Amino acid sequence: MAEPKDAGERRAVEPVICYPVTDLPQPDLALYQRAAEGAVVTGEATAQPREAAYLEVPAGSFLRITSVDGAQVGDLNLFNARDLGERFYSGKTRALHGTHVSTGERLWSNFPYLRPMATIVKDTLDWYGIDQYGGSVHDVIGTRCDPYTGRLLQGSDYHHCCHSNLTRALADHLGISVQEAEPHIHDVLNVFMCTGFTRDTGQYFMKASHVRPGDYIEFFAEIDLLAVLSACPGGDCGAEHTSDVAPCYPLHMSVRTPVEGALTGWVPPVRNAYDGTHGR
Ligand SMILES: [Zn+2]
Repeated sequence: MAEPKDAGERRAVEPVICYPVTDLPQPDLALYQRAAEGAVVTGEATAQPREAAYLEVPAGSFLRITSVDGAQVGDLNLFNARDLGERFYSGKTRALHGTHVSTGERLWSNFPYLRPMATIVKDTLDWYGIDQYGGSVHDVIGTRCDPYTGRLLQGSDYHHCCHSNLTRALADHLGISVQEAEPHIHDVLNVFMCTGFTRDTGQYFMKASHVRPGDYIEFFAEIDLLAVLSACPGGDCGAEHTSDVAPCYPLHMSVRTPVEGALTGWVPPVRNAYDGTHGR
């Protein structure tokens, strides 16, 4: 199609931020970070390579995900530990905070709850910023690697994609079948994954993660959480996923509990106040 005469003018219209986050209720990050300093480990779990692990994280405690042994990305699902119907909403988190998240930003839950489930209090990779390819770390743009897309693109079945790993781990935790667990699995936070969109074709890209053993990201649990984490079969996601080709390493999760009184002034978020009548 030929360009209209005013194509240049139309392209030159300045963008407007859809959801200015200045209007969001702001967390008391300094309070959280002080509480995190004195917190002690009260629970842990390790996602083995190409497998997933789960961990309950009580409201008012911290979830730390740490790289061990080698560069590895993880796919994280978060649930309200008391109500699996409330879960992490990757799309709305992206709309609010952008394509990648870091310190001070929050992971939001789905409708009709729409409240912060977790707040990022520390990210040892926050120095990276946005590189020359438009890549950054901890994205909320990917979905999770899955056997259905593998079947579509490669015509083969692979059972250790993050989707399947998360499904098995949730089934094990709840004592239900994988068929019952699967519908609860949702789009993830891609922990430690370095991704972006190509400028010329707008395609989702990944590049070898710059995470190194000892790096971690830590979240404050705003509500009682069930965290399920898969150590992606893509390893550092520098080449391919949905196969056993890439070197893979474990990811460690820990719950850290602050000392008594460290969170004085913190109030857990209530579910969204919209009345749910939708005009009827
Ligand atoms: Zn994956």
